[in-house]
Amino acid sequence: MNLTMHRTIRRLEPGTASRIAAGEVIDRPLSALKELLENALDAGARAIEVRVGRTLDQGFQVADDGVGIAAGELALALERHATSKIQSLDDLNRLDTLGFRGEALPSIAAVSRMKITTRPRDSEAAAFVDVEGGALIGEGGAARAPGTTVEVRDLFFNLPARRKFLNSPAGELRASLRLMEAMALAFPETTFRMLVDGRQRLDWPATTSRRERAAALWGARHAAQWIEASGEREGLAVEALLGLPEHARSTREGQIFLINRRWVQAPNLAQALRQAYGDLLPGGRFPSAVLWLSIPPDRLDVNVHPTKREVRFVQDDPVFSLVAAACAAPLAKLHPPFRVVRGGMAETPWPDQVRERSGETGQLGIERLFAPDERGSVTTPNEPSGDAAAPATPPAAEPVAGESEFWQLHRTYIMAPVRGGLIIVDQHAAHERILYEEALGRMRGARGSAQQLLFPALVDLSRDQFELLLELGPWLAQLGWDLAPLGPPTVVIQGIPVGLRHERPGQLLQDLLDGLGEDTGKGADDDITERLARSYACHAATRAGDALTQVEMRTLVDRLFATSKPHGDPHGRSTFVRLDLEDLHRRFGRS
Ligand code: ADP
Ligand code: MG
Repeated sequence: MNLTMHRTIRRLEPGTASRIAAGEVIDRPLSALKELLENALDAGARAIEVRVGRTLDQGFQVADDGVGIAAGELALALERHATSKIQSLDDLNRLDTLGFRGEALPSIAAVSRMKITTRPRDSEAAAFVDVEGGALIGEGGAARAPGTTVEVRDLFFNLPARRKFLNSPAGELRASLRLMEAMALAFPETTFRMLVDGRQRLDWPATTSRRERAAALWGARHAAQWIEASGEREGLAVEALLGLPEHARSTREGQIFLINRRWVQAPNLAQALRQAYGDLLPGGRFPSAVLWLSIPPDRLDVNVHPTKREVRFVQDDPVFSLVAAACAAPLAKLHPPFRVVRGGMAETPWPDQVRERSGETGQLGIERLFAPDERGSVTTPNEPSGDAAAPATPPAAEPVAGESEFWQLHRTYIMAPVRGGLIIVDQHAAHERILYEEALGRMRGARGSAQQLLFPALVDLSRDQFELLLELGPWLAQLGWDLAPLGPPTVVIQGIPVGLRHERPGQLLQDLLDGLGEDTGKGADDDITERLARSYACHAATRAGDALTQVEMRTLVDRLFATSKPHGDPHGRSTFVRLDLEDLHRRFGRS
């Protein structure tokens, strides 16, 4: 567009303006689902059933057994800023509903084809309205048990540009399962059911106990391990279910914060939670936890605006200290099974010290790093120490033509003499490049084989991880994973890709799934394999801090230079730098 050219200012047609405004409230299919669930909960539903067609944007419906809407008020409910929940601003201080803006129904109606069928609890008759792009196209009587069903079809049919930028249908579905999970934890006394494409995906019966609800979500065996915490102070209350340190994840996906039954993002609470775990977790791991907070509504508006999904508390806020203290108390009883290494170089890579909750043994029979045949030659105890500044006794192992040694510098870099100089290889980046190409090769070509675990490992995944696992099943199998899903949330790892070194395959699998991010499934198969390969490489690669033997170092360097792009890792970082002898000579004044 040429901005220097004069353009007349025109008022948008009301229809266009409302469509744009609605598109902001309802920015994705998930937010339509969220609003409808909130309405059902606000209506006091004891049971909610969600039915999704093939994908959310094609169509879904939410049915509840709540109070219903009086036939005479149906049209009003579709008007902007029409709500039964507040009458004045003051009411916000007593807010006990999830909604109050009166924007959801009209916004969804403006960007979809919507039908509401409803019957008030005290009425014999049901009524319906049919709306298309915000315009009423039909209404009349209907038959229905007390409660409300809202059906939404063809989301964004009149906003084609918006449609183009939607998240992948599979990603959106996963996000909606996570949303259901959070809401189900907030409202355990409500039954939640969800069907996708005619198949029942979840069925969580009403219960009075949070732990029982958690058991329905994650499986009884897993939920039984979580630790309860609670605390109260100055009218604030927190209750929590805290995952064991071994349930920690590489992202915050495992954390759910509920404030007055509202699901929020709360980075500061995440910090308070992390503080409570203290030395039980190494850096970069985030505890899994559900926190139920109750905060008097009139105290909330200082920190929190109820329309915002993200909530911030200042460090010295009583909520912060309450959460940190309440969660720390029961965790103090856990005896740390391993030593935590903070920042810097790990003297011992911590995963070595933690046992996979598997056949209940640390011995998984997994080869280290390289294929078995390469392993037989690792015989010398004369490995380089972590301190490469003192290669006193030169490593005796593995003479290569000419100068032979590989040194490991601070357990992070491999230094290797090459013709005319020296290369310094970043061991993690190099291994990432190798694994990335290997993974791509296995997924696009010959299937990788699995090395069977002596003791299959049982892993409890989160629901979104489990969904992702089912979706990616064929590619994971190509990669060499031998997995048997037992049903949410448990999967049995029977084998891992050949050549992989990993003491905790369960954790690797979880990190791999988490690393894929939200939008997997978008676009062609190509994208999935790329992303999977990247995540696999990133999480399976040897880390800084891992001590490598001579053989391992040599193999790593050899394999790096056998890849198609040895210069960079899959994220574009350098894998090695080269120091030229001539350069060195110059710097030392040799001519
Ligand atoms: P809000 O929830 O902010 O009030 P909405 O646009 O979501 O605004 O809904 C408008 C009104 O429609 C609500 O205030 C409520 O009175 C009524 N309503 C919506 N959904 C339901 C439902 N499932 N059951 C009963 N009443 C409902
Ligand atoms: Mg609402």
